[in-house]
Amino acid sequence: MSDIFNDAMIRLTDVFKNIELPDDVRAHLKHPKMALAVNIPVRMDDGKLQVYKGYRVQFDDTRGPTKGGVRFHPAVSLDEVTSLSFWMTIKCAVAGLPFGGAKGGVIVDAKTLSRMELERLSRGYIRAIADVIGPRRDIPAPDVYTNATIMGWMADEYYQIKREHVPGVITGKPVHLGGSLGREAATGQGALFVLQLWALRNGMKPGSTRIAVQGFGNAGYHFAQLAHQAGYQVVAIADSKGGIYSENGLDPDLIMAHKRSRRELKSMLYCDASVCEEAEHKIISSKAFLHLDVDVLALAALENQVTEANARHIRGNHVLEIANGPVDSKGDAILEERKIPVLPDVLANAGGVTVSYFEWVQNRAGLYWEEQEVNERLKKIMEREADCIFDLAKRKGITLRTAAYLHGVERIMGAIQEQGTQEYFQGSVS
Ligand code: NAD
Repeated sequence: MSDIFNDAMIRLTDVFKNIELPDDVRAHLKHPKMALAVNIPVRMDDGKLQVYKGYRVQFDDTRGPTKGGVRFHPAVSLDEVTSLSFWMTIKCAVAGLPFGGAKGGVIVDAKTLSRMELERLSRGYIRAIADVIGPRRDIPAPDVYTNATIMGWMADEYYQIKREHVPGVITGKPVHLGGSLGREAATGQGALFVLQLWALRNGMKPGSTRIAVQGFGNAGYHFAQLAHQAGYQVVAIADSKGGIYSENGLDPDLIMAHKRSRRELKSMLYCDASVCEEAEHKIISSKAFLHLDVDVLALAALENQVTEANARHIRGNHVLEIANGPVDSKGDAILEERKIPVLPDVLANAGGVTVSYFEWVQNRAGLYWEEQEVNERLKKIMEREADCIFDLAKRKGITLRTAAYLHGVERIMGAIQEQGTQEYFQGSVS
């Protein structure tokens, strides 16, 4: 395993310093249980056969069936998918959900495919991994460049293979196909609940809190829009092509409407336009965006955005990790030294998997909740876990990330120990 996974493992070093862990637990946390690599043949619109490489990694299932999204991106690798599956294991434990962690991905520039090609690829991916997923085994969901429509195709393909309707196999589906109300905005909503609790504890007032949001997709857009609605000042927004800035604050809904109105409907699933095409606001480069002087730098794009190379230039007073792994371990150490608190991904973006859990529960019960109930339940979980983690960090004098990992690892350790560890079996040998 290479870079990202090794970097993810470094985060455990601080956790190990703060907790006595049996060797069995360390072993579980260091090795994925299963990694599947598949080749997916797809008939393209011009008649050619194109083969795409995909992965599904199940990291640990001690606490329940594994859960994790599927990413369509040219930079997908086994290393990245494994790291993401590890983070999902920790995240599900942090949120107290009865799931282990998994992740999937396909190496593809999805924006270059037609809608039909995308459907064939999505269905092909499910055919390739159908034997290892299921509502009681491993449950995929959306991630970068996959969405509710794609989840609908994937679920349908699974039903055809199994010859039965099992909506609990995939979450993040469209609402009319068994999706949960509130799932679309859940990651952004959960991140806002965490930020609001942090703000309350640290005397930050929404009206005077200036936020920059990097990434304007599912997670970033909903976070920006809900934060704006809650009275925070969203002063900057960036996507993959660059960012916009306004001292007086931006209206995320207007920016999104503008972006959508300009999009070229290539596959009709992705917005090809950029926030930078907004004529009214100051345009800034991706690099300058990360150096903005704001109260909260919310990172909702991809991993490794803050590293050793730029962590000393970050001027945000607080970093909110809505993406997975946006700050690497060296960047983290620099932010810690500079006393910039980082609200860590495994807590801050757990809203998505939490409402995915609600969707799975509703699918299995056949009983559907109103959006208000979904959001109330989400708020309760996010605030309960954030409160524990903020207290733990304060009590032990550790970073919020180490506290969050510690909180999750304690739950994983409990599950592993109750199944029996070396100590347990040594005791039984006469
Ligand atoms: P998405 O595909 O909907 O959006 C990604 C956004 O990031 C796009 O706006 C894209 O333009 C932007 N982007 C890409 N590279 C960028 C760069 N270098 N600089 C600035 N912007 C850039 O994806 P998403 O679902 O919103 O996921 C974003 C992150 O949140 C990922 O790390 C994902 O794993 C994480 N996450 C998502 C969910 C979810 O429910 N969607 C849940 C938990 C975590």
